[in-house]
Amino acid sequence: MPVVYISHGSPIVALRENDFTRALAQMGQDLPRPRAIAVVSAHWEAPSPIRVTGAPRPTTIYDFSGFPDELYRLTYPSPGSPDLAAEIVRLLTEAGSQATIDARRGLDHGAWVPLLHAYPAADVPVVEVALPVPRSPEVLLTVGQALAPLREDGILLVGSGGIVHNLPRLHWNDEDAAVDPWAKAFDDWVRARLDPLDRQAIAGYRDAAPNARLAVPTTEHFDPIFFVLGAASESDRLLDIYEGFHYGNLSMRTFALAEPTWPT
Ligand code: ZN
Repeated sequence: MPVVYISHGSPIVALRENDFTRALAQMGQDLPRPRAIAVVSAHWEAPSPIRVTGAPRPTTIYDFSGFPDELYRLTYPSPGSPDLAAEIVRLLTEAGSQATIDARRGLDHGAWVPLLHAYPAADVPVVEVALPVPRSPEVLLTVGQALAPLREDGILLVGSGGIVHNLPRLHWNDEDAAVDPWAKAFDDWVRARLDPLDRQAIAGYRDAAPNARLAVPTTEHFDPIFFVLGAASESDRLLDIYEGFHYGNLSMRTFALAEPTWPT
C-alpha cells in the first residue's frame, strides 16, 4: 500500500465539493482497496504511552466550534478494528515505544473529514494513533518505521494535518484568496525535499526552511508528515494528489509515497 499525507483544511471541507474534495475522492478510487486505515491526526495529542483507538464502533467527534449545524449532523460510521489496534500496539512495543489501547476514543475531524470524501461508504475499518506528547520529528519517524510492515498487509497509513497551518493568519472571508508568498515559499521548500525523499532535511525544517515559524507556529499539523516519511521506503516515489491553498495560506498539499508499480 502507498502511504498518504493529507492536509485536511477546515472542518467545513466535509460539506464542500471542490477541486480538493474531488482529488480525495479520486484518491480513494485509485488506491488499492485497503483492508483498514491507520491515521495519525493533528487533532489527537496525548501523553505517552502512545494511544491507539480500540473501539469496534468509534464515534464521530465534533472537535470544533462555530460551524453550521449541518456539520454536527454528519457522521462517519466506519467500523474500528480492535485486531489492527492490537497489532499496532505490538509493533510499537517491539520497536521500543510504549503504546496502549484507548477503548473509548472516537474519530476526530482530522480523520473523518478527509475519509468522508475518500471513502464515502465508511466501510473500511479505521484506527487512530495519537501524536505522543512530548515528541520530536525523530520520534514520529520511528513510529512510522515501526508501522511500515502493515503496508504489506493492505493497511493504508495516513498522516492528517497541514503543511502550512497558522489560523490567526487565515483570510477567513475568502477561501480562494490570493496566496501569501511566505506560505508558498515554505510549502515549496517542503515539496522540493519530498522528491527525492529527504527525511533529514525535512526534519531540520525549523532551522532551514523559509518562514518556518510563521508556517508552523505549533507543530501538531505539520508533525504527521514524519509518521508518513518514517513509513516510506527508499524505493517509494512521490505522487502529488493535491497542491493549493485555502484562505490565502492554509496549505492543502496532499501526497502519496508509493512503490513505482503503483498506479499501474
Ligand atoms: Zn486540523
